[in-house]
Amino acid sequence: MNTLTIAHRRRLEDYMTKAFERAKHFIGYPIATDFDYSELYPLLSLPLNNVGDPFVESTYDLNSRSIEIEVLQFFASIFKAPENNWWGYVTNGGSEGNLYGLYVARELYPEGIVYYSEATHYSVQKNIQLLGLRSIVIRTDDEGEMDYADLEQMIRLHREKPVIILANIGTTMTEAKDDLSAIRRVLKQSAIRNHYIHCDAALAGVYSALLQLEPGFDFSHGADSIAISGHKFIGSPIPCGVVLVKKNYKDRIGKAISYIGTLDTTISGSRNGHSPVFLWYAIKRLGVEGLKQRAVECLEIAGYAIEKFRSIGISAWRNPSAITVVFPAPSLSIRQKWQLATESGSSHIICMPGLKRELIDEFMEELRQEMAVPAAPALL
Ligand SMILES: *Cc1c(COP(=O)(O)O)cnc(C)c1O
Repeated sequence: MNTLTIAHRRRLEDYMTKAFERAKHFIGYPIATDFDYSELYPLLSLPLNNVGDPFVESTYDLNSRSIEIEVLQFFASIFKAPENNWWGYVTNGGSEGNLYGLYVARELYPEGIVYYSEATHYSVQKNIQLLGLRSIVIRTDDEGEMDYADLEQMIRLHREKPVIILANIGTTMTEAKDDLSAIRRVLKQSAIRNHYIHCDAALAGVYSALLQLEPGFDFSHGADSIAISGHKFIGSPIPCGVVLVKKNYKDRIGKAISYIGTLDTTISGSRNGHSPVFLWYAIKRLGVEGLKQRAVECLEIAGYAIEKFRSIGISAWRNPSAITVVFPAPSLSIRQKWQLATESGSSHIICMPGLKRELIDEFMEELRQEMAVPAAPALL
């Protein structure tokens, strides 16, 4: 067997040391860190591949389709998908799920216009461009929620066109939620008959559904498709996600391909066969009650963080039932060390599963010390 040279081994060790070091100060991105999938490690020796449609067996039989379907059933249940009329797959992440939702919308309404708020994730603009769709950006309020008066005005200016809404169930910077009932009221009052609502629930979808937080956004509330990220609240060493759509829409997509012996209904060809097993394992091990408990703990930690900020004189805030805590951007060195995303002068921490109070305390202590020292103005 070939082995690494000494130099390459040292290079790998250096990299691994750095990765573990960076994992200690990771509070700015919405990624759970409390998972333990070691029981699944033997599977890493297999090239699992769920190429094509999860519901249609493939000649590539070294896959995790049967597990993937159980994962999809779990999400169909918590998102109240219409029985016998849903379809979906485990994606490479929330962005791919959003692309898929918009793709289905475009197949239904090629002339449709996509309306999405200015607080929408950066990847959506690119997806709209890829699909060659027209789009209009809607204003938000200060907390990041869509301005429905602006939406109504824009829709009325183009009322002859079908309306495709991309609703945020937790925006990237402030975890604001767009309200499907308000959106549907606008559609009704503007007498729009052809419409499609895709929910970008990448960030907050899983715990919002589990805790039945307001406003509701699932299929029973009018969603036509929903995308989530699997590596955020649930947690996974490999980025992944889930997209669900109403099946009668999706039936317009996907050809039978003899080479793989299944339907080409997904965006990418080869699909990760391991990530469905990670998601399955987390769902089965924690169960609905365990996942809910985890979400409640995140909300408590977010409340704790707000109190801590206030105790050192920093005016932090969060949206209702949000685990994202927003505060004025600190110095560049703190932002780099703690990996804090920053936009328009605000940074945030996201109280995902695995974030401990002690780490928040350590972070606050650094902030406090920095404020005590008169420093050069932060570069924003
Ligand atoms: C993370 C996120 C995305 C993108 O999801 P990925 O899993 O990173 O592809 C999209 N929208 C929102 C609101 C997100 O938080």
